[in-house]
Amino acid sequence: MPKNVKDLTKFYLELDKRWTAHNYKPIQVVIEKAKGIWVWDVNGKKYMDCLSAYSSQNFGHNNPKLVKALKKQADKVILTSRAFCNDAMGKAAKKLCELTGYEVFLPMNTGAEAVESALKIARKWGYEKKGVDENKAEIIVCENNFHGRTITIVGFSTDPDAYEGFGPKTPGFKVIPYGDAQALEKAINKNTVAFMFEPIQGEAGVLIPPDGYLKEIATICRKNKILTIADEIQTGFYRTGLLFASGHEAIKPDMTLVAKAVGGGVFPVSGVLSSWEIMDVLTPGTHGSTWGGNSLGMAVLEAVCDLVKEANFGEISTELGKFFVDGLKRIQEKFPKKIKEVRGKGLLVAIELFDKARPYTEAMKNHKPVGLLAKETHEFSIRFAPPLVVTKADLSWALEVIEEVFDEVN
Ligand SMILES: *Cc1c(COP(=O)(O)O)cnc(C)c1O
Repeated sequence: MPKNVKDLTKFYLELDKRWTAHNYKPIQVVIEKAKGIWVWDVNGKKYMDCLSAYSSQNFGHNNPKLVKALKKQADKVILTSRAFCNDAMGKAAKKLCELTGYEVFLPMNTGAEAVESALKIARKWGYEKKGVDENKAEIIVCENNFHGRTITIVGFSTDPDAYEGFGPKTPGFKVIPYGDAQALEKAINKNTVAFMFEPIQGEAGVLIPPDGYLKEIATICRKNKILTIADEIQTGFYRTGLLFASGHEAIKPDMTLVAKAVGGGVFPVSGVLSSWEIMDVLTPGTHGSTWGGNSLGMAVLEAVCDLVKEANFGEISTELGKFFVDGLKRIQEKFPKKIKEVRGKGLLVAIELFDKARPYTEAMKNHKPVGLLAKETHEFSIRFAPPLVVTKADLSWALEVIEEVFDEVN
């Protein structure tokens, strides 16, 4: 704790502002401590976390079982690199594959790395197994996608903030409207190797495709020998009520990408789940990551797999999600000039406003004595995605705060 500082929040915000790049515009709260759905700022004020680090904290901040696994492994060995083997990776990958029904796991660290890995695998599969001409492979993606921040990924983003100033764009990607299966059929040609999509677009503001879309795209891709790549980095691990959001239409994509919640909110873990027929295009030396498959992350991954088998996060997400959406719809009825739409699946929920959302998220943060932390996405929407250890009583309280804020802010 710094001495002789009057305003602790200001002190830390100024440090950030002076010493770190300005690539975010965070809500002005400085968090010092967390447990479950709650966080505390440097002044000891308590808040309910309704963002969950973009669904990384599905199992609650500092989940005791996950922290225990992390500490236990940290005392043994943390990182060996893949030049050697460790006793945590295989065990964790086996549990993850058994849980998800996939044959093989490629471990990486962050979401963008999982996406990049899948794109590399899809291209190589296209050349080696589909017979696409050298350097001609095409991958189809959707408008309003969010798949991360690498130079290739932002090249196929349709958000100017993400791509402007970062050209030239990596070739070999085609963008089609989201939720439109016919557009996919039209965009396919003999060089198409994969279609990558989010089963629900989280960053775009929780956009849910029309019923039947996932089934249709899966059929189209199978018919044309094109790989389906589901980016479940935000939607996975019970956020929308099922282990994967693809499950809502019972499809099994050729590759499923995991990150965020799969690290239990305690350590970055990501990767690609697939079949051997696809994954075996990767051979020694063709792909890698120094930290990918590290003992610490893999111990956490194994603990996450054990945790979700013991708990009923799916039911909580489905039932409480419905309760929360119904409550938000009642608030919308009360403020029809402020709230344009309420939408969600499980506990991945958003409200779209007619006005800019920032004043509302600020007011939720400022609510006394306990605040509520949510973040606007794309200026006009507010996403609510509390940890899945939330209770009905917690959500009732959150609804009261939200209603109060809509009453106050003009
Ligand atoms: C967060 C996210 C990513 C990128 O993950 P990082 O760990 O931030 O690189 C990719 N896809 C989706 C759908 C995401 O929500």
